[in-house]
Amino acid sequence: MKEYIVETRSLKKYYQMGENTVKALDGVDFCVKDQEFVAIIGKSGSGKSTLLHMLGGLDVPTEGEVLVEGKCLLGLKKEQLAIFRRRKIGFIFQNYNLIESLTIKNNILFSLRLNKVDQQTQLEKLNELTKMLNIEEIIDKYPSQCSGGQQQRVALARALASKPAIIFADEPTGNLDAKSSKEVVDLLKIAQRKYHETVILVTHDQEIASIADRVITIEDGKIIQDTNHI
Ligand code: ADP
Ligand code: MG
Repeated sequence: MKEYIVETRSLKKYYQMGENTVKALDGVDFCVKDQEFVAIIGKSGSGKSTLLHMLGGLDVPTEGEVLVEGKCLLGLKKEQLAIFRRRKIGFIFQNYNLIESLTIKNNILFSLRLNKVDQQTQLEKLNELTKMLNIEEIIDKYPSQCSGGQQQRVALARALASKPAIIFADEPTGNLDAKSSKEVVDLLKIAQRKYHETVILVTHDQEIASIADRVITIEDGKIIQDTNHI
């Protein structure tokens, strides 16, 4: 096992907006250890989502590198990158991103089916995750019939189902009330410990960030504080 599961080197992402260059990321260097729970905190527009997109291979940097398990993402071909995302990465978004036309059960099992996991294993996984996340009662419903907190717990189940190496969560509590927010992050922490996941969670909320082992603060596309280096 490599010492670091995620590494960035002088990571930059610039957007050209007419005459202006928006420096969404302006030289970001950090390393995340396997099974670490890291929160990235910063104001709106500080570059948090851009950073997660680069780390998860959803977008390419202007300059610099992202390494996952020691492998440089820029070196991967399109299909390799798609496989990397499917096998290694779980994403959780602010707006849940569930497939509206599928039941909760089929949303959770979606990636297992793509990966041709056998029926028995699928059902065992479904039972285990829905029990842990307290969503057993809603598996035959559709996303629009569920509350925000329930939908985000489903998104968490879906992310966990394929046993990714890393879970990226972008403002997962952004649309939730305080009680549901606490439930979701507590469950994320429980799941992270139970399944030995690495989690990188983006938030603008200090209280949500406080459940992480380590908090990195980002401002104007740069890391300005890292609790690892105090
Ligand atoms: P955060 O997630 O912290 O709110 P973002 O990463 O979404 O911040 O954005 C960082 C900066 O980059 C902002 O100034 C934003 O307007 C800009 N930005 C993000 N995506 C784009 C894009 N596709 N085109 C132009 N500018 C962008
Ligand atoms: Mg964002």
